[in-house]
Amino acid sequence: MSDPVEEYLARLFGAEDAVLASLREDADRSGLPPISITSATGRLLQVLARAIGARRVLEVGTLGGYSAICLARALPDDGPLLTLERDPAHAGFARRWISRAGLAERIEVREGVALDLLPALDGERFDLVFLDADKGPLPIYLDWAIRLLRPGGMVIADNALWGGRVLDPGEDDADTRGVREFNQRLANDPRLTGIVVPMHDGVGVGIVKQPGTEGRV
Ligand code: SAH
Ligand code: MG
Repeated sequence: MSDPVEEYLARLFGAEDAVLASLREDADRSGLPPISITSATGRLLQVLARAIGARRVLEVGTLGGYSAICLARALPDDGPLLTLERDPAHAGFARRWISRAGLAERIEVREGVALDLLPALDGERFDLVFLDADKGPLPIYLDWAIRLLRPGGMVIADNALWGGRVLDPGEDDADTRGVREFNQRLANDPRLTGIVVPMHDGVGVGIVKQPGTEGRV
């Protein structure tokens, strides 16, 4: 982390407790890709979750459980978080650290490919959906999020700037197209009030409007 703004924010707001710091070290030692959210982004997720009074959260893309632990800590004591992960080694690692964080009762790591697992959630209601898995299907994940969120609920996507590739007209791979379309929907979908916060690799945020208010911001 060499960006001075990131360093400043991490120092001010993002201090990791012993569990999160050890999780990160263990993830590096164990060869997990170093792509979990930053500590400051964890703080942003917590502020957003608290702002909407989130009780029930769905995450897509667990990795080692870092963001799941951050989010669960912003929920009420009985607030559950369900997180979907296709890689069994990542899921196992995450479960171990979720236990060490004392959150095993509240966080469920469900193993499988997200697009296979999401249909079973149809009819359930979440307050917040955090998308942080593969980028190509982001528009489909957004459709699911809108379907599963309560009015006033929030969808958040990490990597909304995708390393700057979304701004580069020369980039046109499936992942970049997925992120671009997701951002366009945040900007233009009449059911959402959205923005991309340019923190770290970009954090896309959208609120699902109350029915009947689609014509308003
Ligand atoms: N949210 C995590 C980081 C997630 S990294 C954190 O900040 O701590 C992305 C994760 O998504 C990886 O573990 C990867 O295995 C998983 N993943 C990628 N594509 C997926 C899919 N289609 N379904 C479920 N999990 C997926
Ligand atoms: Mg990410």
